[in-house]
This record gives sequence, C-alpha cells and structure tokens, in this order.
Amino acid sequence: MKILKFGGKSLSNGEGLNKVVQIITDKVQQGEKIAVVVSARGNATDELEYILKIAAKNGDYKRLLENFKVYQVSDYPQVDLSEEFTILDKLFEGVSLIGDYSNKIKDQILSKGELLSAKLLTAILVEKGIPANFADSRELLKTDSKFGDAQPLEQLSKKNVVNYFKEHNGSTVNIITGFIGSNNNNDTTTLGRNGSNYTASLIANYLNAEELQNFTHVDGIYTANPDLVADAKKIEYLSFNEANELANFGATILHAKTIIPLLEKNIPLRILNTFNHENRGTLITSDAAKEGIKTLSVLENVSLVNLEGRGLLGKAGIDARIFKVMGDHNISVSIISQGSSERGIGLVVATEKATLAMVELEKEFENDFYSKDVNQITVTDNVSVISIIGQDLSTFHKPYTALIKNKIVPILFNNTVTGKNVSLVVKKSELNKALNVIHGEIFGVSKKINIAIFGHGLVGGTLINQILESAAAIEKRKGIKLNVFAIANSKKLLLNKNGVTADWKNSIQKDGAEYTIKDIIEYADKYHLENLIAIDNTASATFVENYIPLVESSFDLISSNKVANTLSYGFYKELRKALTDNQKNYLYETNVGAGLPLIDTIKLLHLSGENITKIKGVFSGTLSYLFNNFSAKDVPFSEILKEAIDNGYTEPDPREDLCGNDVGRKLLILARELDLQNEFEEISIQNLIPEHLREGNVADFLTKLKEFDPIYDKIKADQKPNHVLRYIGELSGDLQNDKGNLEVKLVSVPSDTALGGLKGSDSFFEIYTESYGDRPIVIQGAGAGSAVTARGVFGDILRLSDKG
Ligand code: ASP
Ligand code: MG
Repeated sequence: MKILKFGGKSLSNGEGLNKVVQIITDKVQQGEKIAVVVSARGNATDELEYILKIAAKNGDYKRLLENFKVYQVSDYPQVDLSEEFTILDKLFEGVSLIGDYSNKIKDQILSKGELLSAKLLTAILVEKGIPANFADSRELLKTDSKFGDAQPLEQLSKKNVVNYFKEHNGSTVNIITGFIGSNNNNDTTTLGRNGSNYTASLIANYLNAEELQNFTHVDGIYTANPDLVADAKKIEYLSFNEANELANFGATILHAKTIIPLLEKNIPLRILNTFNHENRGTLITSDAAKEGIKTLSVLENVSLVNLEGRGLLGKAGIDARIFKVMGDHNISVSIISQGSSERGIGLVVATEKATLAMVELEKEFENDFYSKDVNQITVTDNVSVISIIGQDLSTFHKPYTALIKNKIVPILFNNTVTGKNVSLVVKKSELNKALNVIHGEIFGVSKKINIAIFGHGLVGGTLINQILESAAAIEKRKGIKLNVFAIANSKKLLLNKNGVTADWKNSIQKDGAEYTIKDIIEYADKYHLENLIAIDNTASATFVENYIPLVESSFDLISSNKVANTLSYGFYKELRKALTDNQKNYLYETNVGAGLPLIDTIKLLHLSGENITKIKGVFSGTLSYLFNNFSAKDVPFSEILKEAIDNGYTEPDPREDLCGNDVGRKLLILARELDLQNEFEEISIQNLIPEHLREGNVADFLTKLKEFDPIYDKIKADQKPNHVLRYIGELSGDLQNDKGNLEVKLVSVPSDTALGGLKGSDSFFEIYTESYGDRPIVIQGAGAGSAVTARGVFGDILRLSDKG
C-alpha cells in the first residue's frame, strides 16, 4: 500500500482539486492500493485562525465566515457540509460572546478544515464511481491532551489504524483527515501546524506502507527556496538525516516530526508536485550513499534576544536559569550563541515570543541588574536565520567570505557538532541577497557577477559586445555568469537586472533615462544583486568622483580611464584606503599598454620582493608610429604626422599626443605601482610641439604642420650613425626612496637594440630588476586600439571573478 498525502494548495479550488481527483482515479484504475491523507483546502487553517481572532475581539467575523463557507463548498453544492458549518457557526458565536477561547476550542475549530476537505473529496470521488470512504482520524489517532501540539499515543493509535483498515479494506480508498486526533475524552486535538504530514507518516508506519507520496505545489525539495533564489536546483535524492535537518530548520514541506516514523520502518518519502505529477520529485530514503548534498533553509519571523552581562564570567547556573525561563513559558529556542568569555548570550526565538522572553528574563535577572552582573537584555526584531544544511566548518570560509565581500555581515553564526549544519543570523532586509550569495558560492554551478558599465563608446561598446558574445562559454568553462545589469554614458542609463541583450544600443536610445550614481546603487540594492563590479570606460575627469561611493556600496572597480590614478597622491591613497576598508578591489590593467599584461607583471614582481631598478619604454602607440616611420623613411616629419592624423591614430587634437602628458600619466601610474609617491607635476616632460603652436584652435594648428619639419630634420641629422629616434618614458633613480625620477623624452638609440628595432605602432616596455641584471624583462605588442583595450578590461573582469 502507498500513502498519498495532499497539501492545502493541492486541494484548492479549480485546477488543484481536479488534479487530485485525477491522480487518485488514475491510481485506482491501475489497481494500485492507496490510502489518502488530506490537509485543509486552500488556506482554510489560516482563515479559521484569523476568524477566531476577529470573533474573540468581538469583531465582525460573520462575513469572513460566509466567504470561508462559499470557498469550501466550491463547485459542489450537492455535497452536504452542513454539519461542520453548523458547528462552526455555534463555536464562533460562543467565542464572540465570551470574547475569549481556549486552545481546546481552537483545536475544535481548526479541525473543521480537514474534516471539510476529506468529506468533500470523498463525495467527489464517490460521484465518479471510486469506492472512497471518509475516515475521521479522530477515531484513529489517540493523543495526549496538549491542545495545539498534541502527541499521538503510539500503541493505541496503531491498534486503531490497523483495525480500521481491516474493516475498510479491499478496494476501498480511505480519505483520512490529516492534522487532527482526539484525546481519551474524545476531545478534538491537533498535531501542530503542518501536521498532516505527520499524520501521513504515522499511518504509513502503522500499516508498513511501501512509500509515502507527499503531493505539494512544488516539484520537490530545492537547494534553496526557488521564490528567493532563481538559480535554485531541484534535489533528486536526499537521506533521512538530511531531510530531518531540513525539517528542523524551517522547510515547511516537512513537519519536524514527519521523518521519524518513516525512518523507523525505512519507508521512502517522495515529494511530488500535484500540478506536475509526471515529475519524479525528490526521493528521501535511508541511503546514506546519497548524502552530501547541501541545501539552504530559512527561518523567518524570528528575533534575537541578547543578554549582556559583564559580571557573568565564570558564574555557574546562568544558562540554566535562562533556559528554565524559556521552558516555563514554552518558548522554543532555535539558535544559541555564547562566547567563551560568557560575557553574553544570544538566543533566537519566534518573534511573537520575543517580548515575552525579554520580560520574563528581566524578572528572573532583576537582582543581577542591581548587582550590575547583567547590564541589559535586548531584542532585535527583523532577523532571519539561514541554515546551510550539509555544511561543516572545513569549507565554511567560502560562503562566509563571499558574504563579507558583498557587505553582509552576519549578526551571529553557529554550527551543530553532530550533523553538518551551519546557521547564520542575518538582518531580514539582507536575507534575499545573502541567500543568493551563499547559493552561488556553495553550489558553484554559476556564480553571478553583476556588472555596471560606464561609457559605451569605442572601448565600452566593444566590451559589452565581447561580454555578450562569450558569456555562455565562460559560464560553461568557469562557472561564472557575467550579467551586465547597467549601461550608462554621461547622459543616459539603461537598467536590466536580468542582463542587457544584444540590442542594448537601441534599448538605451529608446528606454535610457537620466540618472545619478545613486540610482544604480539603489537598483542593485533593491534587486539584491551580488558580486558587483563598476567599470569606467569613460575618459571623464569627473566620473572618478563616483569611485568611492561605489566602493562603499560594495562595488569592485575596473577602469580603462586613467584619471583616478593620476590625480593627486592624496586622492590615490584615499581611494586605496576606501578599497581596503570595504575589502574591494580596483583593477586597471589597460591604463598602460592597453591589454598587454604590464601592470599585473609589475605588481607581482614588486609584491614578491623583486627590486625593480628601472622601467623604460615607448608608452604611446601614436608616438611609436610617428618616430618609427620618421626614422625609417626619408620623408618630412609633417608628412608622417599627417598620415597618422588621417588614419585616426591620433586624438582629434594631435597636440594631446604630442605634448607628452599622456605618456607622463602612464609613467606615473607605473611609478605609483612601486609605492613611489610622485605627483604629476614632478615629471619632466619634453613637449614635442614647437612653443608657438601650443595655443590656438585645432583647425588652425592643422594648417601649420610643416613648421615641425625644420626642427625634426635637424634632430634627425644630428644623430650618430645607425641611430634612430624614439619617444620614451623612463623611471629611474633609487626606487627604494619615496620618489623616483620620471622623465618623458625624445632619445636617439642605436638601431640594432630592441628599442631601436621597434616597428609599426607597437608599445614596448623594459623592466629592469636586480635579479634580471642588464637583461630586462621585455613586454611588447599592440598597446592601443579599442579591441585590445576592451579585451584587457575583460581580462580584469575575469581576474576579479576568480578572486571572490
Ligand atoms: N491544515 C494544517 C495547517 O495548515 C495542517 C497541514 O496543512 O498540514 O497547518
Ligand atoms: Mg596594460
């Protein structure tokens, strides 16, 4: 025999009830032996509880009661439910007159939900020709008299059930009320909320059933609640042990006591979906080989009670007194945390019991307040408990670090000594994000990185497309899901928490809106976006004002924009401090030499203690092109310059390249990487523009390019034989000091050296160190262009993703 249990949502009007009838009919027609346990239909139990409260306050409960009845009758007015309705009328009237009720009355009222449900379902099945029998579990399950949380009496209940099934055997399908029983006086009792599961597992135990099938409205047990974590996955198999932990930590599918009767008889439990019952659901068995899966479960509506006492150190009996208070007032404690110094103790209790707990503790410790042994007792509401089931402390640092990186600091955590389980108490407002962060981290299936991109011109636009093109492959290879949730330029912002799509250019035109940085920060907050990165691909001098606010709001930073690293050394330090304080990273590989792995290399050398003695190179692709060609060809300087301008190798105003400031900035960035404290003003820069051409508008300037020729012809002619011109940046001096010598200058070098052999528009860097002596590390290649720069930024994104 199999026991089928249907929950309230499964039995709700319309599709639910129809599906239940169909499932039962199918099984009977296939000759399966089954018994059915039902919950109250829809939200009946909650509704009855609510009506009861209103009636007790002398409120207008009658309208609510009528609505309740209408729902319960559903589409079956021919079914006679008047017995239950009449009793409800009387009971509620009584409560309303007296203005109060006992737990005993409450149990009588709540029991009607299951009675109505079983009666209706039986009638519908009989009408369809199924031999169904209404079975009132109050005749079967005998319990103690703890109304609201009654405990079944094993021997008696078992005998009743076995006998009952002997009488109603053969092809009869018993439709049994879940949740309810009766005491020796035949007063109605209930087994506690969600108790129908318990009823079903007891009956399965008494009858030695083959399997208990628990029909719910979800496909099974998930790695986390899919309503809260979109990436949650269904679990195929679970062991009883794990299910038990889950039940204890708030999985409402499983009543805390459900597992034990099944475990005793080794009866498998299958969690199925009424609305999708072809799905295999989750199978829970004693098979320990299937252990090791982790799940996240959540307790909401809990509060943290904290007792703080400086005089408690070493005092015996404090904990006993605390728990006696809890026990005496029937307050269940789900988590306890106490430091070894015994300075305080934190307890997590149901929010509805928190005030009571505080008041009673204050009474108990009244004298200790006077003696100053106890300082205060406080309650923090709006906390939630996340339990990572299957987690032990050996790998707990991973989810924990991920939380901290996302600025979620748990209020407390503890672990169970036996059984793998770590529980964290977090602010309720952070619950959703915390769950997603932990889930992404421990399931490793795909960790989501949420990216905001500022600037979508050449580099930014290329980057967005590169990300969209390779996102699927990166998710497959690295388990990292890159989600661009924001794109903005100086004017407009496009937001999409699920990630922008290939037509982002149109979308931002159409739907983009004006914004401030706060809008993006608030959006990320609102949708609990984790692992945030802000990428600055602008050339803006003002956007850097947003860096620190972004860091403080849990964003890592990446930029191809050089400004932040070349402002004052004071700002440079301030930004680094904000990064350290907030445990955030800032990567900017493309600031020098575009995608070439230069900054990363220098950082590593410097960090590893290698003494860098000099860095020298051609930092600008534009100026590389100019002098490589000018040196190699017998043409005037202005002609090469014109060619570069026409091909778009220079800035719109070529003087920005020729003045040398850009090379200076790059040199400064490298110097600061070595902890040198130089300022931009301290760089000696040889400006390549003849003095009288430095001012004035661009158009004008472009007509006067020939005026460069006499100067550069002379410089070229004055060289030694077999020498060529190169415009270089050079960092030298005693680099152990606070400041180095930073020079940007035009030099003449032998053509048979590495530097002299440079071609095209390559960038070129020589890093001299103590260990490498006079054979420097050389890094050379395309050091400019939007495609390689975007690739470099992409590289930074992946570096960051690996760090977290
Ligand atoms: N109807 C009861 C409740 O809602 C029992 C159950 O559904 O398991 O708590
Ligand atoms: Mg680089």
